[in-house]
Amino acid sequence: MPFIDSHCHLDFPDFDQDRDEVIQSCQKQGIVRCILPGTSHLQMEKQLALKGAYPDWIDIAFGLHPYMIESQKKEDVEAISKMIASHSKTIVALGEIGLDKRFPLWEEQVRVFERQVELAQDFQLPLILHHQKSQDTMLGILRKKGFSHGGVIHAFSGSLQQAQQWLALGFKLGLGGTVTYLRAQKTRQVVKELPLDSFVLETDAPDMPVYGYQGQRNSPERLLNVFQSLTSLRNEDGSVIERQVYQNTCDIFGSVKPLGDDL
Ligand SMILES: [Zn+2]
Repeated sequence: MPFIDSHCHLDFPDFDQDRDEVIQSCQKQGIVRCILPGTSHLQMEKQLALKGAYPDWIDIAFGLHPYMIESQKKEDVEAISKMIASHSKTIVALGEIGLDKRFPLWEEQVRVFERQVELAQDFQLPLILHHQKSQDTMLGILRKKGFSHGGVIHAFSGSLQQAQQWLALGFKLGLGGTVTYLRAQKTRQVVKELPLDSFVLETDAPDMPVYGYQGQRNSPERLLNVFQSLTSLRNEDGSVIERQVYQNTCDIFGSVKPLGDDL
């Protein structure tokens, strides 16, 4: 049965030495697709090259991550909007975008986030969202803008009530390394209580190592560890969970995008 890593930074230099081997190892495990969110305009050409090299296995999204806020220039937002316009047939989402209280320039973060939400609305693309003490603010912005194309709240952690607000807006919860840790009790409890059509799987590799691999580079090869943690929290058969989570991911991102004419 197939698995999809809905959030993996395989374009990062961390994988420059062994990217092809990592991809082959994933394919042997039944991972049929990997979605690479964007973090900066500097990564876009590399993302496009990887999509070109693995057109049936890699999908890409463009976005400016709030982590980059200090190094961003005003023109970057417009540069990314041009890239989105010219590659709108190739990309499957807009992200990874969001708001993060640990990073500086909050008001600038909000401005860049709002602009990117507008772009996603214009191009009818789902969002891949990064959050850190910012879920309520982001929910408010999406409601205010009437955003209607759904997406994934990546690395979900939070309350049942927060989860339900995302689901009501057409989002899925991205489950990654967090659910593999027994100490993440609140998030694991939420995973038990929600319907199975609420979740997608992700690794966020090279970040967010799963339990047992702390301190190591995370890899999309660990996606099945996340899946096993999910099955341990649910009553349904593994095959039922696998099929539904695969379907959930396709519901958000569509099936694998062919290379657009725009590439
Ligand atoms: Zn990420």
